[in-house]
Formats: sequence, structure tokens, C-alpha cells
Amino acid sequence: MTQPTASHFINGEYVEDTNGAPIDVIYPATGAIIARVYSATSDIIEHAVNSALNAQKAWARLSGTERGRVLQRAAIIMRERNRELSVLETYDTGKPMSETLYVDATSAADALEYFGGLAGSITGEHIPLSEGNWAYTRREALGLCVGIGAWNYPTQIACWKGAPALACGNAMIFKPSETTPLCALKVAEILVEAGLPAGLYNVIQGLGDVGAALVSDPRVDKVSLTGSVPTGRKVYAAAASQMKHVTMELGGKSPLVIFDDADLENSVSGAILANFYSTGQVCSNGTRVFVQKGILDAFLKRLTERLDLAVIGDPQDESTNFGPMVSERQLDIVLSYIEKGKAEGARLVTGGNRIAGVGYYVQPTVFADVTDDMSIAREEVFGPLMSVLSFENEDEVIGRANATEFGLAAGVFTADLSRAHRMVDALDAGTCFINSYNDAPVEVPFGGVKMSGVGRENSKAAILHYSQLKSVFVRMGDMESPF
Ligand code: NDP
Repeated sequence: MTQPTASHFINGEYVEDTNGAPIDVIYPATGAIIARVYSATSDIIEHAVNSALNAQKAWARLSGTERGRVLQRAAIIMRERNRELSVLETYDTGKPMSETLYVDATSAADALEYFGGLAGSITGEHIPLSEGNWAYTRREALGLCVGIGAWNYPTQIACWKGAPALACGNAMIFKPSETTPLCALKVAEILVEAGLPAGLYNVIQGLGDVGAALVSDPRVDKVSLTGSVPTGRKVYAAAASQMKHVTMELGGKSPLVIFDDADLENSVSGAILANFYSTGQVCSNGTRVFVQKGILDAFLKRLTERLDLAVIGDPQDESTNFGPMVSERQLDIVLSYIEKGKAEGARLVTGGNRIAGVGYYVQPTVFADVTDDMSIAREEVFGPLMSVLSFENEDEVIGRANATEFGLAAGVFTADLSRAHRMVDALDAGTCFINSYNDAPVEVPFGGVKMSGVGRENSKAAILHYSQLKSVFVRMGDMESPF
């Protein structure tokens, strides 16, 4: 594996500054320190901001096709290096190679390819007016965008933010989560190799204070955060005080509703995917699994049988399909919720324990007899903990599914198509799945309602969030004035 060679990537090259606070990078499968980066000092932040500002205007003046060509070249390089990037992603996050080989660099490449393709079609419109007058609109870059990432999909998040920002003619400074600082550096390296001019995509390391310094910098025009609701509140407030554009991709406690006419095997597959993929560390997970009373026992029986097939172990071994938690801190959070589940009266069906040995492993865990008021039904755990709740009828489950401050995603399994669409109409969520769960192709908008966020990533919608309209009025005849 070729590791990044320094902490930061600014103005087209790796930059080191050991005056910043050290951040150890820990491999979650063993607890071993595999790298050390240094938090950005004020000099590093200044260097990144100045490099981005110097490069942005000339980039915005290129045609969209020229910008898009660079992104598409980066997508090709990323696919060629998929294995190397997947190994790094696995070291950064602990997610098994059986996932990273198929999801991380590949979905990042999808974003570069898709937004590279769209770049040439970012246009305004012509608006005819009376007396031969007319107006036109220009869709212009915002300027300097800041991306702040969570730790669960570091390569993907770096590209979900970077690709549309660059396609629209912006520059970006990306701050990864301090838990997973490595992957975004490789994204920056590849973009430059693909021909991106220096200064347009910079990566700087740091904790929340570095993110906060970027958000409050008056030279920054937009902030896109993937993170928790508490961080989202702070970042949104800071950005609002300077009227910056924002995209907030925040947490969730999404409902997955399984009706008794649903295909049992597919429903169990959906529930497993919605709770245990990436060891449960997915924002849109359907962690409140509402199962209609008639199939509850059969569902739990089949779910338990299927969970016995999980291959828990070394994430570098491609037969492993369930890895460790990203960090000891996140492991402790999950263990504390398991204790709360037991203490508040939920029935532990399977799992519930830390796995002995090195690394931050916890068993895939299922609680049944969960009620709406329990902590494990109300709060985001962000780990492999499934809460199974039972319900009688459609109206009841809609009310209960929506009784949350979050609104990121929702899923429905049923054989009744009319009911599926009635449910989707009634559910408060940014993304809904019918007889499926957690698909996130780049062509489809992704984002939440209520406390789960503001704005949308991916799809043509993302272009609207990384650009702004200028209206231009053109008078063809003489001016009229009152005197
Ligand atoms: P956090 O909210 O703790 O952190 C997110 C990022 O924000 C990190 O890079 C963090 O830095 C940074 N940060 C923290 N405080 C500030 C601040 N005051 N100003 C600017 N930046 C700040 O989230 P996690 O990293 O723990 O990620 C898990 C969360 O992300 C979950 O709640 C999950 O639901 C959500 N998420 C949402 C997704 C979505 O698309 N909706 C996708 C994936 C995750 P650092 O951590 O380095 O201190």
C-alpha cells in the first residue's frame, strides 16, 4: 500500500507541519498505530485558503467540458487503483475488504465520472420579456467551498463533496474526520495526477477546531458537512452568521417497516443490510425495524439463523464480511447502548457482547420487544444494534415511524404496491426504499428532512447546491425615466 506521505495536501503537493497537534491513526482491527498526522496550524489553514483562492477564478473560467474531463480522468485512475485504495480505506476505517473493494473508491469514482459528465451542461436560461427585452441567467461558481467529513466513508465523502464542487468551478478545502485522515489525501493526489490545477482541492487535517476555523473564515463561501446532528447545529449556526451556503448530511434513526405479506427472505436481507453493513456505521441505516405481528416470530427466527452466517474477523481477509468498529470510542458507545437496551427492558435476541481479543469488535446485536420510548429506539447508536418493534396496522406504524426528530431514510417491505406508495407518501424521510434498503447511486439525490439535514448530495440537485444564479436583464430599446 502506498501511504500518503504527509499530513496535508495543499496547492498540488504534500505539505507537513509538525507544529500541529499529533493525531495517531489507529487500525481498528488491531488497535495498532499505523500512521501519525498533524493537525493544521493557522499557517497551514492560511496556506490552504490562499492556494484555493488563487486557483479558483481561472478554473471557473474554463469550459465545463474542460473541467469535466479532469474529473473523468481522475475517475479512471481511481478505478485502476481500486485495490490499493480499498486497502487504505480498510486500514483507515476497519471496514472489510469485501466491502471496500466494491463500494468506496468505486462510488467515489462514480461521483467523479457523473459530475465530470454533467459539468458541460451547467447552464442558465433565456427569459423573453415584453418589448423585445430579455434576460438570461448564469449559473456561477460559489467560490471557496469547505467539505467536512465523517469517518465512515472517507473516500466516498471526499468525492461526493469534491466532485460537484469542482464541476461547478469552485475550489475546495476538505477536512476529513480525525479518526480517518488518510483516504482523502489519496483523492487529492489522484485529482492532481489527472490534471487538476494546483490549489483547487486541498486536504487539511484536524479536529473540530480546524473545521470551525474554516467555517468561520469570511473567505469561505459554502460549507458541506457530513456528521452528527450536534455538530450540524454548530456548523449551520456559524455558517448562517455569515450567510454562507450550506449542505448538512446528518444523522438518522430511520424506520424499516416490514408488513406480513412481504417476502420473508428479502425482508431479512433488507434488515441485515440496513443494520450490519459497515458494522452498522451508516447514517441512513434502518435501525428501528417495525415488524407486523403476524410474521414477528418467523422474522426473528430467520434473522437469527442468517446472523450466524456472519464472518467476523480480519478485515483484510476477503471472506470476512463483518469488521470492527471504527474506534474504541465508538465501540464504547455501542456497548453502552447494549446495556441501556437491557436495563430498559428490551429482549436480547442475539449478540450483545464485545468480542475478546485485539481490535474493536462487537457482535451483531438484535433486541426484540423494543418500545418507542426506549433509548435504543430513539437515539442514533451508529453501530450494529438492531431494534425490532412490533406493530398491528398501517396507520399505527406510520405515526410511530414518524415520531422522531430525524428524517434521513425509511424503508417498506410489502407485496402490496399501493400500500408501498401510500407509506412512502406518509413517511417523513429524504430517501425511501420499497422492497430494498440503502441504495445510494450517484444519479439519485441523497439527504434528509427534519434534523437529518439540509440540501441534497449527488444527482443534478447537487449542482444547485454548489452554484448560484446571476440574473442579467437586457434592454433592447431606449431607457424610460420619470424626468
Ligand atoms: P461528528 O459530527 O462528530 O464529526 C463530523 C465532522 O465534523 C468531523 O470531521 C469533525 O471533526 C468535524 N467537527 C466537529 N466539530 C466541529 C465544529 N464545531 N466545526 C466544524 N467541524 C466540526 O460526526 P462523526 O465523525 O462522529 O460521524 C458520525 C455521524 O455522522 C453520525 O451521526 C452519522 O449519522 C453522521 N453521518 C451522516 C451521513 C449523512 O450523509 N447523512 C453519512 C455518514 C455519517 P473531528 O471528528 O475530527 O473532531
